[in-house]
Amino acid sequence: MAKIQMTTPLVEMDGDEMTRILWKMIKDELLLPYIDLKTEYYDLGLKYRNETNDQVTMDSAQATLKYGVAVKCATITPNAARMEEYDLKEMWKSPNGTIRAALDGTVFRAPIQVKGINPCVKNWVKPITLARHAYGDVYKNVEIKVPGKGKAELVFTAEDGTEMRETIHEFDGPGIIQGVHNTDKSITSFAKACFSYALDTKKDLWFATKDTISKKYDHTFKDIFQEVYEKEYKDKFEEAGLEYFYTLIDDAVARVMKTEGGFIWACKNYDGDVMSDMVSSACGSLAMMTSVLVSPSGVYEYEAAHGTVQRHYYKHLKGEETSTNSVATIFAWTGALRKRGELDGIKELQEFADKLEKATLQTIEEGKMTKDLALITELENVTVLNSGDFIKAIRETLDRM
Ligand code: NAP
Ligand code: MG
Repeated sequence: MAKIQMTTPLVEMDGDEMTRILWKMIKDELLLPYIDLKTEYYDLGLKYRNETNDQVTMDSAQATLKYGVAVKCATITPNAARMEEYDLKEMWKSPNGTIRAALDGTVFRAPIQVKGINPCVKNWVKPITLARHAYGDVYKNVEIKVPGKGKAELVFTAEDGTEMRETIHEFDGPGIIQGVHNTDKSITSFAKACFSYALDTKKDLWFATKDTISKKYDHTFKDIFQEVYEKEYKDKFEEAGLEYFYTLIDDAVARVMKTEGGFIWACKNYDGDVMSDMVSSACGSLAMMTSVLVSPSGVYEYEAAHGTVQRHYYKHLKGEETSTNSVATIFAWTGALRKRGELDGIKELQEFADKLEKATLQTIEEGKMTKDLALITELENVTVLNSGDFIKAIRETLDRM
């Protein structure tokens, strides 16, 4: 069989530890035999990031802006222990943070659903996609622990020196205050990314904040979403038969529990953090979750939602067998290949991505899976496979298909 040809390269961002091992296995077993794979390779493994003073991360983000589609392996975000382990020149920043800043993106995450591994909310028959705004609010806060009696004020000084001033509270004893911010620019980017992604994936979009209580802060999010929708997306939504609606966050939470899923739930930064953890835990495993960073200019970066699975890697180094789930990393590749195929009009590439996803799910449904899934599945007579054999089993299913 002739291999599928590509025209534009994918930006390939290699990573660290166990996921780096899976990365190579996936390429060798599931991609290279079928595709004349064209990638521009960036090694984001910590060793090379250190050697290049993290220039390689910046370069990979620039390449993503140039080509439009990237696939990223999980990477180590250094901490004190990693400084020593890798003898680092500096505590390099999180690559995800660097790439997100360059792409001005929003992160979309959705559970990968498969028969036999069921969400504990029984009516969730379709995956719920979380869209999390990844800038500002409590993640960029300024806080003061108030020692005692006094007055707290909120002050804004404009460039020309004029002031806006509000009393926060007259303290008659110790307490706490917090200052948070966001920008119209970032909220607008977030809104555009959500509307574009909804059109792209043909899903309804929900957005919720606490605008009844936060009449300026949260209300601004609501207003910007509405403005962007009416100006740029309303007609396209109507044409596609899709719905956008805004509701209060309390109402959204209550409604989510009663739906069958299948929509995108856009959340402010903090709400997105906790709600995506809730949705993913309800669906079983971080390794059964897709994750894509989408920029308002239409640039896509696909990755797994989990980390480098360090504990498994150390076992692997000691020569012990591992059973690490490669599904999220496989789906990062299929997401990127499908998008590349769409943008370049290569139907075979899109079909291959669909097929590989189907083969992956079918392998699990036939009872062949890694240990993390075997622990939670409702299927009986399950075979627990090691990291490599699971990928080989997927290849067998793919070849049968
Ligand atoms: P992790 O790699 O997500 O792993 C945490 C635990 O979750 C594992 O020990 C394992 O549990 C389970 N797990 C996660 N993915 C799995 C998979 N594919 N198959 C089977 N089990 C899986 O998180 P971490 O250990 O906190 O972080 C390790 C490194 O990853 C850190 O250096 C961190 O900076 C980095 N990280 C990177 C990203 C990213 O690049 N996107 C995201 C998060 C963390 P058991 O050990 O119980 O089997
Ligand atoms: Mg969280």
